[in-house]
Amino acid sequence: MERTGPLNARLGSRTRLLAACAFSSLGTACSAPGAQPADLVLRDGAVRTMDTARPTAEAVAIREGRLVYVGSGAGLEPFLGPDTEIVELNGRLVLPGFVDTHVHPVSGGIEAGECDLNGSTSRREVLDRVARCATAKPEAPWVRGGGFDLPLFDRGAPRRELLDSLVPDRPAYLTSADAHSAWVNSRALEIAGVTDETPDPPPDGVIVRTADGRPQGTLRESAMALVARHLPEHTASEVRAGLRHGLALAASYGITTVHEANATEAFAAAYHHLDATETLPSRAVIALDVDEGRGPEQVAELVAIRDRYRSARARPVAAKIFLDGVIESGTAALLEDYDDRPGWRGELNLSPTALDTLVAALDDAGFKVHVHAIGDRAIRTALDAFGRQRERDGGQGPRHVLAHIQLFDPSDIPRFAEYGVVASFQPLWFYADTYITELTEPRLGPDRARWLYPGRTLEETGAVVAAGSDWSVSSMNPLLAIETAVTRRAPDAESGPAWIPQERVDLDTAIRWYTIRGAVASDLDQETGSITAGKSADLVVLDRDIFSDAPERISDAVVDLTIFEGRVVYRRATPP
Ligand SMILES: [Zn+2]
Repeated sequence: MERTGPLNARLGSRTRLLAACAFSSLGTACSAPGAQPADLVLRDGAVRTMDTARPTAEAVAIREGRLVYVGSGAGLEPFLGPDTEIVELNGRLVLPGFVDTHVHPVSGGIEAGECDLNGSTSRREVLDRVARCATAKPEAPWVRGGGFDLPLFDRGAPRRELLDSLVPDRPAYLTSADAHSAWVNSRALEIAGVTDETPDPPPDGVIVRTADGRPQGTLRESAMALVARHLPEHTASEVRAGLRHGLALAASYGITTVHEANATEAFAAAYHHLDATETLPSRAVIALDVDEGRGPEQVAELVAIRDRYRSARARPVAAKIFLDGVIESGTAALLEDYDDRPGWRGELNLSPTALDTLVAALDDAGFKVHVHAIGDRAIRTALDAFGRQRERDGGQGPRHVLAHIQLFDPSDIPRFAEYGVVASFQPLWFYADTYITELTEPRLGPDRARWLYPGRTLEETGAVVAAGSDWSVSSMNPLLAIETAVTRRAPDAESGPAWIPQERVDLDTAIRWYTIRGAVASDLDQETGSITAGKSADLVVLDRDIFSDAPERISDAVVDLTIFEGRVVYRRATPP
């Protein structure tokens, strides 16, 4: 259990949690020995609890979905009954179920069922996959999907003629892996009525144009909506299928709590429906989509959605605000000019005053505000708003989240701990890929680029640092992100220089980001995030102990078993 500053107020409920549990040298047990056998025990393993009161153990016992014993093998005896299922760990590592504090299970899952370009490593591969998508579904009115990497194309701006050659007969709409750009063909532009005369839509839209001023086929940020609004709506069953796919993938990676990072009402309805009809394989903190173009009058609608679709495992208690764009497209809001574009600092999607008003209304209504902030100006503006809200409510409101947080002005770093704001990083982005070396660092210069993803500096301030994947933007696999947080190298690189090496963290810290800190970020640290007797039995079993191997090999480990609320929600098909 974490005991950093902002948590002190909650220790009272921890005391309640453990009131019925007895702590001894053998282990912590939550019922009188011999009283009732466990449903499931895991024994003879390397259990890393992420609970500082008992950091390691050999065995756990589970009854009715909860951990009733955490401790040595010797203390397990009273929990073994004739019907107790036993998992022999043989030294394998057990961790708390992972918490992904920024992920898109629904839209990623839907995308996986469409033209899925994620993981393409060359331009050729992207083109081949698009061509296959077009022939695979000749009757579909649109070719849609996404996940291609922008750097595969000149200036991160693929041309429509190229897409016309692959999809000549229908409109096509394909989003980039970062979801901040779309590649469209001529038919799609025609349907949307986008011509040479169409202005870039405010606040941050860019219609990329050729030298002679014609729409080239790439749309950025709010310009994407010019075409996207003509896409046919996904049916309820497509949305549910997407969610089912997204959460099954999460379970396969050991994730037992997700923060759905941007939900429409239809998405919230899908969570609610699946939880009622088939029981979700993880719990979800759901951030409802806020319309940045509207003011606090929309909060009543969000409250209605929250009330309608709240269930035991699906909690639409958060609200998502996009404050800026991304550096690689020049749409992130910076404090100083982009180096390659004098006079341009990017735009905020809403003014500081509008953000303040919205944060106040959402906070008053009990919403956890989840802000997308990438540039140093977006981060500062969001912190200003949270700081002012804290002055108004004395820190009694919900815990808010800043996600992505790429470029910092160092003076803002201590403010996360000061205001109790969660720093939600996507640690898989902590290495120098081509997004960084070609599209980010050259726009910032070395002095500013030093403050890209300062994970360790932020950690040392005592802030609640948590982790997430932003899938389907990046892989959902927490082990890839944990390795990258530790090495600051590409997870498939065995050697080579670390990127901003002073920002590396140790393995224990990286795992905390993905477990107990994520639980704190969710306001669920009394329920999950550590292997503590009394908490929900949310566990992941890896095939090896990554603490006893080289950091470069962390992501070679695979998940053997994922347990959520005491139920096995994923079991690897062929354990060795
Ligand atoms: Zn996201």
